Amino acid sequence: MFDTIYLKNPIACKTCGADIWDLQTKEFDSCMSHYRIGSVLAGSRVLSGIIKEEAYCQACSDAKRDAWMNVYLVVWHTILAGVETEECKAEARLASVDRLHLVQWIAEAQRKEEQWQRRYFDLHNELRRWHEYVEDQKKPPEPETEDNKFWRALRSIRRPSEKITTAADPIGKILELHAPKENEESPGLF
Ligand SMILES: [Zn+2]
Repeated sequence: MFDTIYLKNPIACKTCGADIWDLQTKEFDSCMSHYRIGSVLAGSRVLSGIIKEEAYCQACSDAKRDAWMNVYLVVWHTILAGVETEECKAEARLASVDRLHLVQWIAEAQRKEEQWQRRYFDLHNELRRWHEYVEDQKKPPEPETEDNKFWRALRSIRRPSEKITTAADPIGKILELHAPKENEESPGLF
């Protein structure tokens, strides 16, 4: 098993210049963790320093060239502080990391957490509305009293949208509507 490091800014393949957005490593816990710059590296034996690793270029592999190149993981107090293609750049990065970076990483992590909480609550509400709607459909027709009309009108406000009620697979539709946008990352990245 291995862990994956995802890069917000890709590194360029030394041979063909193709963007490399992620790399796999067995340097840490190797339990399918997702890391990015700013992540605490569980199981890192290096507290602060540079780890030599290899990145894989799909474009070079497709062109039947050697697809592997050296990269340098910069570790600062067990936090992944950078991924560089040159050792000297990694040295410079390690020397330049300071507490301001730490504050930026924390701010970024909090922003992501809030985003995920919001999405979770939206999804939870939608599923609850769907559940209420399904339960309502099962009830026998109510007598047409003013009271019943009022409550029915109120419940209809909370009804799931037609996109959901008319879908062949309503739960699937709900999940689809609440799926991460293309540029959003999963919470596991932290
Ligand atoms: Zn390449």
